[in-house]
Amino acid sequence: MRRVRLLVFNQVLGVLDYRVPEGMAVEYGSLVIAPLGPRQVLGIVWESERLPGEEVAESRLRPLIEVLPAPPLPAALRRLIEWTADYYCAPMQSVARMAIGSAAALRGGGTMTEYRLTGVEPKRLTPQRAAAMDALEGEQATIRELAERASVSEGVLRGMASSGLLEPVAVDLDRPYPRARPDFAAPDLSDGQKAAADKFVAAVQQGGFQPFLLDGVTGSGKTECYFEAVAEAIALKKQVLVLLPEIALTENFLRRFEARFGVPPVLWHSSLKSTERRRAWRAIVKGEAQVVVGARSALFLPYARLGLIVVDEAHEVSFKQDDGVRYNARDVAVIRARFEQAPVILASATPALESMQLAEAGVYEKVDLPDRFGGATLPHIEIVDLRAEPPERGRWLAPRLVEQMQARLERGEQSLLFLNRRGYAPLTLCRNCGHRFQCPNCTAWLVEHRLSRRLACHHCGHELPVPETCPECGTGDCLVACGPGVERIADEVRELMPEARIALATSDTLNSPAKISDFVEAAENKMIDVIVGTQLVTKGYHFPDLTLVGVVDADLGLEGGDLRAGERSYQQIAQVAGRAGRAEKPGEVYIQTRHPEAPVIEALASGDRDAFYAAEAEARRDAMAPPFGRWAAIIVSSEDNAEARDAARAIGGVRPDEPDIFIYGPAPAPLSLLRGRHRYRLLINARRTAELQAIIRRWLEPLQFPRGVRVAVDIDPYSFV
Ligand code: ADP
Ligand code: ZN
Repeated sequence: MRRVRLLVFNQVLGVLDYRVPEGMAVEYGSLVIAPLGPRQVLGIVWESERLPGEEVAESRLRPLIEVLPAPPLPAALRRLIEWTADYYCAPMQSVARMAIGSAAALRGGGTMTEYRLTGVEPKRLTPQRAAAMDALEGEQATIRELAERASVSEGVLRGMASSGLLEPVAVDLDRPYPRARPDFAAPDLSDGQKAAADKFVAAVQQGGFQPFLLDGVTGSGKTECYFEAVAEAIALKKQVLVLLPEIALTENFLRRFEARFGVPPVLWHSSLKSTERRRAWRAIVKGEAQVVVGARSALFLPYARLGLIVVDEAHEVSFKQDDGVRYNARDVAVIRARFEQAPVILASATPALESMQLAEAGVYEKVDLPDRFGGATLPHIEIVDLRAEPPERGRWLAPRLVEQMQARLERGEQSLLFLNRRGYAPLTLCRNCGHRFQCPNCTAWLVEHRLSRRLACHHCGHELPVPETCPECGTGDCLVACGPGVERIADEVRELMPEARIALATSDTLNSPAKISDFVEAAENKMIDVIVGTQLVTKGYHFPDLTLVGVVDADLGLEGGDLRAGERSYQQIAQVAGRAGRAEKPGEVYIQTRHPEAPVIEALASGDRDAFYAAEAEARRDAMAPPFGRWAAIIVSSEDNAEARDAARAIGGVRPDEPDIFIYGPAPAPLSLLRGRHRYRLLINARRTAELQAIIRRWLEPLQFPRGVRVAVDIDPYSFV
């Protein structure tokens, strides 16, 4: 090729033509450096026929500067990038950026300097150095990363290096990963498990696109089953991608993986160190990384030989990305498997309604694991009607639940209380004047965190110390906490059961892999009697002595009236219930509610999942909601309210008139102020037959907005705030 078209990493430009100089060889997918004005940019050589753009005269083409020493992005990945950009109405270069992961990795090779503590114990230390020494115990990273981890300046660490407290270590950037062994510790599968595993193994051997929905109750051994398919892929020298909904779950997964295959898998997530990121990317692109485990960003990496994709806890909402490219990793994983001609397994105990529907339609092959492994039974469910048996004044746990917790404590068993609310109280107000503490940047109350003695916004991170006096009326000692968060529940347990050992499990307390693994170890070794946690503890964990789960407020998730509220509540409560009685001792679940008659609660009480799904499906069909119809949102935002409102009105003013789509709004979004930006929203409901994306593109493309206005399109939205 002497003349190529590049996808360049520049928001505005997108695609540009270049000349390939004599002696340089490129192919589609090659990563190259090209001149752009006075600068140099990274680009990917792309098939030109797929990209519209004006032809540039031969004589005006500038030559490429360099081909980077990395394998070209494979065709299947290029098609995936195009598909994703097209489907989610996103710029192609934004999608492509997710495939690159790390600019540094493109050059590869060589070594890099990291630093670690030397172990020298100095006699006197400045407070900053002392804090850094504490924070950096066992860490090794670049100066910049260490500075971030220890919250000190790079200067402090450089000083520590020159006084011998930190030492440099040369790190080989491309050192290979240890090899996973497919038969390191293969389990004896039950007959049901074996039948499921055999299907997956056969699909890996055969190759070709084959989507599975692995629908197995909590504790049925879904992981063990798909591990057999992973083992087969490793044996066949194919790569595997396992997507988990959040990084917090990887710690637990790593242990199980290592126990099964002898070595940990290759990790990919947003908080990797730059050296780890580089090493992982190069191993992935060369086909040497056997199994990659990651959050959704691992989906777009350039695997050389992808032979299997697993999406675990596939119903999880966190697979949907809500900024930048607003894609759903669960859905894109299936598309990727199609382009790669590989099997994909969506595993869940509570599949998304959309996935169930596709299984029913025969698009996905459904594989069931209806029983818990090893004869463990599903927990018994009790509904606690808070209207009939209320907690004592100022408390949140009903007497019947407290009795059960006490009984567990006496028997040496564990209890788990679930409330999906971080902090101490969701709202703080002044007893004297009624002042409520609100975030200045968001339409949200500030949440009190007693552990850190701060009021914090859970949307933008804005924080302030809990004040002594009311900022409005100046009265002292007058602030009242309204409603419970997990910290308040933990306090209540402490008062009721002073002898119990309580662990608070939220993203505030379990905010590093080390803390998560300490928590898991403590729970496994029976050092904890009561766990009080948010959704962080609803999935993945297997604590044999945990026999009681209390759902503090089952109605919480039903507020807000989002179209998936019922389904999401059901999934969350079923998942947390699934933590109880996973081994020999049977489990019980107490669900506190003010609406025992709500369909979700009735379905949980009777264990009639199918009836719940059927009723949900019916309601969605009536509302033309997914999977029967489709939604899209257009979110218009600006720091200037009038500017945002006018832009939204301008969009609304030229709304297309199409038979199969219905447009609502513009209206202020429920979260009308978010991170200092005023937000307006249009919602589009479409029949499945409508060409939704094409219509939206035609609608928005001709419009121009002031610089401060951002217009985001959200296809198949999960968040309606
Ligand atoms: P799920 O993901 O379906 O909730 P897991 O895969 O976590 O279930 O399995 C639950 C527990 O049972 C785990 O501790 C797992 O190691 C164990 N287990 C499941 N199947 C087997 C098996 N065939 N042999 C030994 N242990 C098993
Ligand atoms: Zn805020």
